Amino acid sequence: MIASAKIASALRAPADTDLLRQSDSLAEIRDNARRERLLDMQVRLRPYRTGCFAILALALVSVSSEIGWWWVIPLTAGLAGFTVADHFMQNSSHPGLWAATAWGILPLFLADAVVTTGGADSPVLMWFALPAVTLGARFSPRGVALGTAYILALLLVGTFGLDQATASEHHKEVIAAAALILSTVTLSGALVESDRAHRRSSTLDPLTGLFNRNALEQRLSELDGQPSSEGEGLSHALLLCDLDHFKRVNDQLGHAAGDKVLQDVAYTMRSVLRAGDSIYRIGGEEILVVLPGASKKDAAAVAERLRKAVRARRPVGVGVTISIGAAVSKSDVVNTDDLVARADAALYSAKANGRDMVFMSN
Ligand code: GH3
Ligand code: MG
Ligand code: MG
Repeated sequence: MIASAKIASALRAPADTDLLRQSDSLAEIRDNARRERLLDMQVRLRPYRTGCFAILALALVSVSSEIGWWWVIPLTAGLAGFTVADHFMQNSSHPGLWAATAWGILPLFLADAVVTTGGADSPVLMWFALPAVTLGARFSPRGVALGTAYILALLLVGTFGLDQATASEHHKEVIAAAALILSTVTLSGALVESDRAHRRSSTLDPLTGLFNRNALEQRLSELDGQPSSEGEGLSHALLLCDLDHFKRVNDQLGHAAGDKVLQDVAYTMRSVLRAGDSIYRIGGEEILVVLPGASKKDAAAVAERLRKAVRARRPVGVGVTISIGAAVSKSDVVNTDDLVARADAALYSAKANGRDMVFMSN
């Protein structure tokens, strides 16, 4: 990959990144990430969810001569609930509530189906495992626990609550259904968590929460070859930042304190940036910022803001400073190899000229 070679040659160690969002607190950034994950999951699940509803409908149609057509209304209500929730959750500040409400209709429909087809003796008792499958993908661990309790409660209401005698006679089926529900929640939760961990480690730096080099390579590939023109808001800037004398912090205060400083610097820098800018930890104490649409003047202003913001903090009781090398794309098209090399040279000049400063490449 071109970008990979470029980073390896012009820069040094491994790193991370994260979409920047100015004055958001860490909690808000996490909330936003959760919200986006939920919305994204909802979109990805939609066709499969519709397929599942179709399978259930086919099964019910095939036995409708025996059980009738009562199920059409609750099944349609379940599907409609998801469709309405999909629509409204996009712009809602509480998409989780929409998702939970729509999800909650399905176990109700299943309870109705169980009750109508014989309670504990119902052939559809095992269908209660269906809503359990997607719990982990949609909700937090607390939501998963609540959802599981809700399904189990409906299972009990639809069996023992309806007809104790039949339920006692068929208690083995009820126990098997409960075990299936719990096993499904456990296994699907583990799969979802493993997938999340994999995705996090593939683009995020675990120490700082910033994007890593993998993410930077993708970003630079996107920028490469894009039209670039000075003075028309069409140029793009890179800021290569390096902590000054960071080795001293480690030597004097220990590696753990050094890690805390890195986390604080990352958080401080991220909080200064605009949405749309992105920030990557590309080496031990080297951070790269991508400013799309930034002119030389914009880049200098943002770099100066970053430098001052870091300087104003005293994480673990010591002052830290950063040096920044800035480079802005030239006319015609963006050449990220050139941009990275120029930012690196500018950083070298900032270090050579005394550190705690911004040096702009020509
Ligand atoms: P300069 O101003 O020239 O950049 O000096 P410096 O001491 O910052 O530069 P140098 O590259 O010599 O040292 C960087 C140090 O960063 C060395 C290493 O111990 C430290 N470092 C790299 N990654 C980590 C990390 O993840 N945690 C901690 N605590 N330290 C790290
Ligand atoms: Mg360094
Ligand atoms: Mg350094």
